[in-house]
Amino acid sequence: MTKIYTDLNPTERVLLGPGPSMAAPRVIRTMATPPVGHLDPALLKIYAEEQELLRYVFNTKNEWTFALSGTGTSAMEAAMANLVEPGDAVLVAVIGYFGTRLAEIASRLGAEVDKIERPLGEIFTVEEIETALKAKSYKVFGFVHAETSTGAEQLHVGEIVKAAHEQGALVVMDTVTSLGSIPVLVDEWDIDITYSASQKSLSAPSGLAPITVSPRAQKIIQNRKRPVSSFYLDLNLYANYWMNHGYHHTASASMHYAFREALRIAYEEGMDARYARHRQNAELLWAGLEEIGAPPFIPAEYRLPPLTTAVVPDGVEPHVLRAKLLNEYNIEIAGGFGALADKVWRIGLMGYSSRRENITLLLAAMQELL
Ligand SMILES: *Cc1c(COP(=O)(O)O)cnc(C)c1O
Repeated sequence: MTKIYTDLNPTERVLLGPGPSMAAPRVIRTMATPPVGHLDPALLKIYAEEQELLRYVFNTKNEWTFALSGTGTSAMEAAMANLVEPGDAVLVAVIGYFGTRLAEIASRLGAEVDKIERPLGEIFTVEEIETALKAKSYKVFGFVHAETSTGAEQLHVGEIVKAAHEQGALVVMDTVTSLGSIPVLVDEWDIDITYSASQKSLSAPSGLAPITVSPRAQKIIQNRKRPVSSFYLDLNLYANYWMNHGYHHTASASMHYAFREALRIAYEEGMDARYARHRQNAELLWAGLEEIGAPPFIPAEYRLPPLTTAVVPDGVEPHVLRAKLLNEYNIEIAGGFGALADKVWRIGLMGYSSRRENITLLLAAMQELL
């Protein structure tokens, strides 16, 4: 008896969840290009261009700006592993699941981690963070800019970072969902390590994690007394690979083809136009959700354009509607996280997914199912 393995043919989906977002056809096409070696001059030229384009999307001049071979979580690990040594004090401001994950990662690295938390759906004031920072001498302060589990944007970033620096802490900011859809001003805000992922608002397949390091943090990482606990995520070795072309690991040429193309699209569109498109389309979605009785959960003041949490109407079984959207309309959205599990849906409008036609389709399908 022989088993038949059929041709690869997954159903095409409209991806409107918390990531991955859809990749533009020209991004997908690049991945059919035959891979070259990981130190081929052609790939090294692509790396150099990717660095320029990443500096453009991050709004930074940071020398250490490149993409890690891994997903967003690998960059969370890298940020903490490179700054933290066992016993260091770390403060994490938690407004949802990914803040909790950042704290967990720091704690596994042997840091002494303190968390401050807001109820799901809320954000911090500058004063709350400043007060927590003054309680102890922290080496690192970490927070999530766009909390994908709730759809909230942590505002006042510049002031928060200033307060952290005044207390002597380095700042790690997670921009996995925000980079490419809302302003991420790394130099203006003076962030020490900022990271993201290829598959959210930058709209490439998942597999790469852009990261950028301030000159201040770079110096600290270069002068560590003990080496970074992770060989794979050591940013010194990464920098040597990207800038001096010393072998570190075999990066995927296919992934870099795709990511460079996604960044090229962002550059062609222009960041300001890109932020405006994400906001305009999100506002269209928000108005439509009000109309069908599933209004946005987060107040407009700090509601995220790339990720909307919509309140599930009374009497509606959220998982049933979600399954029907997927099975009958080929549209992916997500359920809520933790305490919000049965209360909200999570709808992503990131990168190439943020298009008017997708919103019209989703709203019509939801209305029909409701
Ligand atoms: C998705 C996400 C991550 C994790 O990224 P992966 O690519 O899934 O590893 C981290 N932080 C935030 C805010 C995210 O939305």
